[in-house]
Amino acid sequence: MNKYKLLTPGPLTTSNSVKEEMLFDRCTWDDEYKAITQKIRKQLLEIAGASMKVYTTILMQGSGSFGVEAVLNSAIGEEDKLLIISNGAYGERIVKMAKCIGINYVCYSSPYDKVLEIDEIKDILNKDKAITHLAMVHCETTTGILNPIEKIANLSKEQGKILIVDAMSSFGAIPINVQNSGIDYLISSANKCIQGVPGFCFIIAKIERLLKCHGNSKSLCLDLYDQWKCMDKDGKWRFTSPTHVVAAFSKAIDELIEEGGVIARNDRYKHNNYLLRNKLKSIGFDAYIKEELQSPIITTFVFPNKEFNFIHFYSYVKERDFVLYPGKLTEIDTFRIGNIGEIYKEDIEKLCLIIQEYMEEK
Ligand SMILES: *Cc1c(COP(=O)(O)O)cnc(C)c1O
Repeated sequence: MNKYKLLTPGPLTTSNSVKEEMLFDRCTWDDEYKAITQKIRKQLLEIAGASMKVYTTILMQGSGSFGVEAVLNSAIGEEDKLLIISNGAYGERIVKMAKCIGINYVCYSSPYDKVLEIDEIKDILNKDKAITHLAMVHCETTTGILNPIEKIANLSKEQGKILIVDAMSSFGAIPINVQNSGIDYLISSANKCIQGVPGFCFIIAKIERLLKCHGNSKSLCLDLYDQWKCMDKDGKWRFTSPTHVVAAFSKAIDELIEEGGVIARNDRYKHNNYLLRNKLKSIGFDAYIKEELQSPIITTFVFPNKEFNFIHFYSYVKERDFVLYPGKLTEIDTFRIGNIGEIYKEDIEKLCLIIQEYMEEK
């Protein structure tokens, strides 16, 4: 197998130094290991602009969805009602979770290429006073659209609602000040913009909210409150922790800080995304999302013509050491290219040349 670079939105291409951290087997109850967990929890709060007095970080085994489900399952009580605002597959996944858990919810959805309309959300909240919680996806990885997190957070604050943000594919690459925005729960995972490997997710939660979650969970494993109470003592995880992934993640955070933090990473991703979109446009690929709504994370491209065969295209590009992602839309033929991870300008230029050659050969 040739060693390709991932241009997918997680798992993504990680640095060798992050991978090297996994060559040593660590003990879960050892003090040095527990200190890594505590260090990560503290650093994540700093990245989020959140004070330790008001917020805490909970690390949770599993992929990102486990974190979202743990929050829904633990934060929304029997008397509560959740408004899910959705414009993509990850918003729809929240709806599926709500159904599965059996929480009281309503969904407001908008088309995949449109951002969530603040006035319409306001209208729903004004009409339905039973709504206590709001859930939204920041960057909808389905399309790459970026939702107006500040506007929705302001509205939620104004109306005294509890806000849950799936910031899976944006946290670490797009500045979010969790405390100033008044976000109550923010969920992200190890294998996205912090550039770690898959295996756990994390939740940045307002302590005041978390304290009210005791006893809400109908799941033992996805009980956010219990996970927090255990981890908060000394960094020992409740149940086996993904030790290799945690060590790699700790290194990945250090590398994010070395790069210059979220601002510098945002810059790199933005430039790569801009380069990608422009070069591909000149080759004949249109992006599905309008430029002003496009995130610097992942881009959805429309097939250039009827003859375009994604499987063939994918193999051609893979043989030349890059891996792309299929589309996630039902009504239009698309594919996606992620530009997060250990990816630089040279990689994007190389990729665009390969794609250009493919189109010329066809
Ligand atoms: C990656 C991602 C998730 C989590 O997906 P998993 O497959 O569970 O890791 C959730 N929401 C968004 C927006 C994502 O990009």
